[in-house]
Amino acid sequence: MKQIQNFGDQRQTWFCVYCGGPTETRDHIPSKVLLDEPYPTNLPIVPACQKCNAAFSLDEEYLACLLDCVLTGSVDADEYKRPKINRILNAKPALVSKLFQARQDAAVNTSFNVEMDRVRNVVLKLARGHAAFELNEPQLDEPSNISFVPFPEMCLDVKVRFEAPPRSAISPEVGSRAMYRLVLDEPGSSTWNIAQTGRYRYLASVGSAIVIRIVMSEYLACEVAWDYI
Ligand SMILES: [Zn+2]
Repeated sequence: MKQIQNFGDQRQTWFCVYCGGPTETRDHIPSKVLLDEPYPTNLPIVPACQKCNAAFSLDEEYLACLLDCVLTGSVDADEYKRPKINRILNAKPALVSKLFQARQDAAVNTSFNVEMDRVRNVVLKLARGHAAFELNEPQLDEPSNISFVPFPEMCLDVKVRFEAPPRSAISPEVGSRAMYRLVLDEPGSSTWNIAQTGRYRYLASVGSAIVIRIVMSEYLACEVAWDYI
């Protein structure tokens, strides 16, 4: 990924961007379990505390495996698309069992009962990381909106609106990476950042709200927003 230095207020990144706790470690955004090897160089890194760093990993693993199972419609090892998911599920029979029990076979297609709290936990964590890294505006409060929906369940006009960057009424913080991307991007170019083609892309914008959009595996479309008070 194109790496841009942050010239924003450094006091914004002197704490865990997930809980405001001490900076004890660093966390990749997006998490590597959501990407394939070889990993992109220059992945964004944000400060985190040990507790948060460890707390999300099981839910991230669950979401990564769930996405692959949904996309293949299977929990059979031979059918996973991603070698990494194969490795994880081979090592974790309890997770395979959980996904197997969640699978709902119907006449037309297969679906999965999703543990929504776990997916929400990951989506919010990722959005907090992007807000801190791209906008230099860490968001510790609960968001005013958080949603995630598979593209196939999204009607066309909603998808078009989702893909278009929100209109910004105000500019990103001076010195933030988002501001530099605005300056560096060709006029009219997309403001989506591609972490890994086909696997993970995201958009971070400021306007009447801070809005983070994420697309995982070109399947799960997520949006998290924090309104300005
Ligand atoms: Zn923390």
